[in-house]
Amino acid sequence: MKTSIAVVGAGVSGLAVAHNLKKLLGAGVDLTVYEKGERPGGAIYSKRINGFLVEWGPNGFLNNEPATFELIKELGIRDRLVVSSDTARKRFLLIGGALHQIPLSPPGFLATKVLPLSAKLRFAMEPFIAKRGADKDESVADFVARRFGRMAVERMFDPLMSGIYAGDVNALSIQSTLKVFHEMEQERGSVVRGMFARIKQRRAEERKSGAQAKVDELVSTSKNPMSNKLLSFAEGMNELIAALAEELRDHVRSGVTIESLQRVEKGFDLVVRDGSGAQTAHHDIVVIATPPEQAAPFVAGLDATLAQRLTEIKSSTIAVIGLGFKGEDIANPLDGFGYLIPRKEGVRSLGVLWSSSIFPGRAPVGHKLLQIMIGGAHDLRAIEADDQTLVETAMRDADRVLGFRGAPVLQNVIRHKNGIPQYNLGHKARLREIQQRTQGIDGLHLAGNGYFGISANDCIRHARELAGRIAEGVR
Ligand SMILES: Cc1cc2nc3c(=O)[nH]c(=O)nc-3n(C[C@H](O)[C@H](O)[C@H](O)COP(=O)(O)OP(=O)(O)OC[C@H]3O[C@@H](n4cnc5c(N)ncnc54)[C@H](O)[C@@H]3O)c2cc1C
Repeated sequence: MKTSIAVVGAGVSGLAVAHNLKKLLGAGVDLTVYEKGERPGGAIYSKRINGFLVEWGPNGFLNNEPATFELIKELGIRDRLVVSSDTARKRFLLIGGALHQIPLSPPGFLATKVLPLSAKLRFAMEPFIAKRGADKDESVADFVARRFGRMAVERMFDPLMSGIYAGDVNALSIQSTLKVFHEMEQERGSVVRGMFARIKQRRAEERKSGAQAKVDELVSTSKNPMSNKLLSFAEGMNELIAALAEELRDHVRSGVTIESLQRVEKGFDLVVRDGSGAQTAHHDIVVIATPPEQAAPFVAGLDATLAQRLTEIKSSTIAVIGLGFKGEDIANPLDGFGYLIPRKEGVRSLGVLWSSSIFPGRAPVGHKLLQIMIGGAHDLRAIEADDQTLVETAMRDADRVLGFRGAPVLQNVIRHKNGIPQYNLGHKARLREIQQRTQGIDGLHLAGNGYFGISANDCIRHARELAGRIAEGVR
């Protein structure tokens, strides 16, 4: 009899697990992906509204993950990729109510007004600051304050962590978010020395091995995210989901909620609820690809401590407010990617993406599209406000900086209740325990953005690795 595998959750993680299982095991496996929402994709969805292309979640992904390119090629959508404009390399911070470009080079850093001279001098002391013990986790704020000074936290890392994680710089773990900084401190005694050493090492490796065979000419081998490019698809990130869903059309069941999971002699019984009621479905192997807090109830009866650890990985909420304007109704030329806002600025919005400046075709000719983030770990209840309040808040905050001359022609509010999992202090130890305990439940696996990285690239890479391990066990 065929091995029966259930994937719970059809976000990019669950779909990518299923895609790889299908590829590796083909007809030898009976595969079902259950999705409680009406459409697959989870946080990822794109919709064209009155000519504007609005993203629900991610706007793109960096070109440094071969697993993502392989997936795209396997799905036959390589020619649908779009590369972000050169303009989008310019990113800004709001400091003292004005926009300042984030420096990308040492001369740029010397010239920037993001930090005053005293803070730049403190920054320059970094190579001389003693390193700390390897084992103890530390918040991003404590790490950065210790190595670069408190002002670097307030003006640079607080908005950065809001922008990437919708998170709290005082709570997020350095080891699990900016892991490379922690490693450089441990290896070289300094982040700055570590950066120079890595650049040198990489150049030497490239010289030695000559031109490496690449998965795709667009793939970047640079470890520096600032030198990588952001990619998307002509009709937005949902093209990836649509291609996965089409390939898995005989396997994905949307509008179906998994209510509970029970261990039986061989495998698991799932209580599956759809429009017609609840039934029991048996599967030999189950991959739970939901946010960790939503995975917890499934394992509570199998391992209460595992369930407890999963509930400790909380997700932050976030609202994305899309605003479309006639081009002449925004005074600022929007020459860049957009800007992030430190909490000290006293503004409720976390940041503003200048979406129509990043990728082509995001707004009708003569128009511009902004996407404004509100909420995050500092403001979890912000998404409870009604649409009008969120639009007014976003408009008020952005108007001060960008100068609106007319009303928006598009308003679109999206709420993510389980926005982004927070890799807070102790995440690495928690993850180790979660992995050990999950291995103790034969046939049960966890996938998703709650564990090894929140980016779409991380989700795709981890899904591929996990599917490989599962397939090995099945064959
Ligand atoms: C606003 C925002 C902006 C982002 N920007 C970027 C970006 O620019 N670049 C980037 O790389 N990443 C970005 N991310 C992160 C990235 O999009 C996510 O980490 C990724 O899409 C998560 O995918 P996932 O499959 O792990 O989880 P999800 O997308 O959360 O999918 C989980 C799925 O499980 C389903 N589910 C839950 N419980 C059940 C149940 N009981 N039964 C059945 N189904 C269930 C849910 O309905 C959901 O569809 C962003 C995220 C957000 C929210």
